[in-house]
Amino acid sequence: MDSTHAQSFGDNPIEVRETDHYKHEYIEGIADKWDELIDWDTRAKNEGDFFISALKERGVKKVLDVSTGTGFHSVRLLKAGFEVVSVDGSADMLAKAFENARKHGYILRTVLADWRFLNRDVHGEYDAIICLGNSFTHLFKERDRRKALAEYYAMLKHDGLLVLDQRNYDTILDHGYSSKHIYHYCGENVTAEPEHVDEGLTRFKYSFPDGSEFHLNMFPLRKNYLRRLMKEVGFQKIETYGDFQETYHEAEPDFFTHVAEKR
Ligand code: SAM
Repeated sequence: MDSTHAQSFGDNPIEVRETDHYKHEYIEGIADKWDELIDWDTRAKNEGDFFISALKERGVKKVLDVSTGTGFHSVRLLKAGFEVVSVDGSADMLAKAFENARKHGYILRTVLADWRFLNRDVHGEYDAIICLGNSFTHLFKERDRRKALAEYYAMLKHDGLLVLDQRNYDTILDHGYSSKHIYHYCGENVTAEPEHVDEGLTRFKYSFPDGSEFHLNMFPLRKNYLRRLMKEVGFQKIETYGDFQETYHEAEPDFFTHVAEKR
């Protein structure tokens, strides 16, 4: 994969509906930009201890972070005392994560791997797998989603758990999108706005205060569809939280987090 600073979606961006395209979206320039503007302290404050508590409550020690990105959750979990292995399919993101972790005093154990072939490249068994930051949305085909979930399932201990989050696409699909569906990250710094929405694609534009923009093409996962897939792959119990709360109104949360247990 080439490292470049410019994303490429070709002549007709809304026709780009390929699982493999994430490698051309998460490139060096994006990794740098993201971290420059979304500072980790603010993100940690917004998120609170939700993930750390969910893992600790269930006795988790060894975690596989399958969507490491620039390393935010891997580093948070290392700081909280977990043993962490950090996976991503983008070499640029992993390189940035490694550099970020070093600044925090940690050496990340990184593995470059695609979720669809996880067991080929990552070894061992884990108490928990985390797939956070609306990452699973990058899989455009149902068979890719099933394959990825099956690969996660196989890497978990008999009583392991998967923690996976997603944007609330049901609201975007069912109620359309308009200027009121502009999402703000860390105050007003970065805005995320859906530019195109249909049942097979949500294309978001991210705008930064310095005028720069980038895009991500994502598959709009419906909440109950994803819960069903996890059940069909074998997860026995799935709890879904809305913006980190157990009780929520369907249309309100921006994000859902699923905690899926194997036993
Ligand atoms: N979890 C991080 C966070 O919250 O900041 C990063 C989230 S970023 C939205 C999604 C990450 O998933 C990217 O780093 C991308 O390279 C990775 N990714 C997407 N599809 C993948 C796949 N099929 N296999 C492995 N990694 C993938």
